[in-house]
Amino acid sequence: MITVEQAREAVLARIDRLSAEQVDILDTLGRVLAEDISSDVDIAPFDNSAMDGFAVRVADLEGASEDSPVILPVIEHVAAGAFPQLAVGPGQVTRIMTGAPVPEGADAVVMIERTESLEAGGGAGGTVAIKTTAKVGENIRKRGEDVRKGDVVLSAGEVVSPAAIGLMAAMGRAKVSIYPRPRVAIVATGDELVAIDEYPGPGKIRNSNSYSIAAQVLAAGGEPHILPVARDNEADTRAILSRASEFDLMVTTGGVSMGDFDVVKDVLTDIGTMDFWKVAMRPGAPQTYGTIGGTPFFGLPGNPTSTMVGFELFVRPAIRKMSGFVTLDRPTVQAVLAHDVKKKSDRRYFLRARLTKGEDGYTVALSGSQSSALLTSMHRANCLASIPEGLSFAEKGSTVTCIRLDIEEGVQ
Ligand code: AMP
Ligand code: MG
Repeated sequence: MITVEQAREAVLARIDRLSAEQVDILDTLGRVLAEDISSDVDIAPFDNSAMDGFAVRVADLEGASEDSPVILPVIEHVAAGAFPQLAVGPGQVTRIMTGAPVPEGADAVVMIERTESLEAGGGAGGTVAIKTTAKVGENIRKRGEDVRKGDVVLSAGEVVSPAAIGLMAAMGRAKVSIYPRPRVAIVATGDELVAIDEYPGPGKIRNSNSYSIAAQVLAAGGEPHILPVARDNEADTRAILSRASEFDLMVTTGGVSMGDFDVVKDVLTDIGTMDFWKVAMRPGAPQTYGTIGGTPFFGLPGNPTSTMVGFELFVRPAIRKMSGFVTLDRPTVQAVLAHDVKKKSDRRYFLRARLTKGEDGYTVALSGSQSSALLTSMHRANCLASIPEGLSFAEKGSTVTCIRLDIEEGVQ
């Protein structure tokens, strides 16, 4: 049996980043940029007002206050989208709206709240009382303050955020080059499985794995394709697994243990190649990996939590590598165990658990029973607490490494 690290290495050795594609910027959220993006304009493109108010010359406002305002003529009224026609001369002001270009001659903007329009609503031809002094540059947003023309603003390898999409739009990019979402085929196996809109008869259960895996694929940035269930015979399994080459990855669940009808490994070695089929871990030792028609193939175990843990450890990093991510794994934290944990085998344990953060750091407690058939404790978990090989016991109060399931990557 190989270790979790060996298995992960073997998986990633076969996985390549997919070729980039051009897509509409709204389809790039959370994906990895495949090009550097530079700006064809300054942003802001011109000096503009940060306030609704009056463009002034600071020298005219010396000594101005609430009690002793300076009264000045208003020579023009400039709305956002308009362009000032007149320069502001000594002893003059221009009424200006947020985002409008600052007229020549003005060196500050006074917000409207510190003024009082005396005639004609403060528009051109009227006068205004200004009740404050101003500093040079006050309330003026400078040209190029955010981005300078020619600057590389977004770099290949960055993950696209909503703000990045706003920047792309501001830089005039409708489409950009991005790494694709891997298309992942999902195949549940088992004669006992019925569709989720059926009431399970005697000996039957609903196929939940196809859906938990599809959700994990979505969360990892992939595109799930749920294929028909493969029944527990070679012909049916072969027919469905042969479709692997239509996709970037194929994931099956079940049919990889030692049962009489576990045919996935036989079919895999028959129509593809098998790299490994067992990993020293719990839950879910029968993790199978290989290729079919050049497509990487994951044969995850059938028990609902073994399936999900196998996905976390092996399939998720593969999807992220294909998608161009640099960080493939979830963040981990060190946490203090809230109770003793007994281990029945020498394998690495991944315990479904809940992390909480206190003043002295993280504490971790099991989120319920650890049977691999149970999904409720997986649902309640926000981490997988990893208990190393070699230990037969992890003591309350000892520190363990926890893989966080609640965040994708980044600082904690
Ligand atoms: P297997 O590895 O095929 O023997 O499956 C192990 C256990 O997981 C059995 O109890 C199966 O009934 C269960 N199981 C397998 N596939 C699914 C599935 N798609 N949805 C829910 N449970 C499953
Ligand atoms: Mg089965």
